[in-house]
Amino acid sequence: MKKHITVAIDGNAASGKGTLAKKLAEYFNYAYLDTGKLYRAAALLIMEKGIDYKDIKKVIKVIKDYNFYNSNLKDNFLKSDEIGTLASLISGYQELRNILLTYQRKFAYEQHDNKLGVILDGRDIGSVVLPEANIKFFITASISVRTERRWKELISLGQSTIKRHVEEDIRDRDKRDSNRKNSPLIASQDAILIDTTNLEANEVFSLAKKHIEEYLL
Ligand code: C5P
Repeated sequence: MKKHITVAIDGNAASGKGTLAKKLAEYFNYAYLDTGKLYRAAALLIMEKGIDYKDIKKVIKVIKDYNFYNSNLKDNFLKSDEIGTLASLISGYQELRNILLTYQRKFAYEQHDNKLGVILDGRDIGSVVLPEANIKFFITASISVRTERRWKELISLGQSTIKRHVEEDIRDRDKRDSNRKNSPLIASQDAILIDTTNLEANEVFSLAKKHIEEYLL
């Protein structure tokens, strides 16, 4: 059986990629990095410092000085739509992406205790961060299903929100993430496509699990 493997999962907002990544990481005993949280942590930082996101120089300066290795990526507020939107607004800055790229690649190739592999999820994992990943998944779902899922998630986090706003936010972020010049959201040619519109989380997991098991044979 092959031992250390790298799994890349990309997809648009609320497609179910995070849920899938977590389940796979737990089942196969892989280390997991939600790369969206890095962009969200960067957004939270510039918000806390009162920096205008359009001021690229200032944004890059604070991000450079920030130690992502010691940051607390568990903050519930990171999950808010406000932070998600700001994250997507700054995520087009190539210098910011370079800083986070170093962090992500280090995570992918460092030793994680007894872990047998790593899973990274995001927008450009299969295309830019880990083009050499052993297995790549690209996750999609219809806009209405993604809106419903995201809305429920926000409610469960205690963040009151209107469904129409959630849908608008998802549409805007999709557009920005897919159309930006630097590392746009894209399905790599060698990615396995999974449309989760009509699938329960467990069915998505079973499908993906089979692909990894076949690779491990
Ligand atoms: O996945 P999540 O919604 O947490 O990501 C927040 C934002 O961070 C995305 O809308 C996207 O703009 C940016 N992002 C990115 N590349 C990644 C992960 C996230 O540009 N690998």
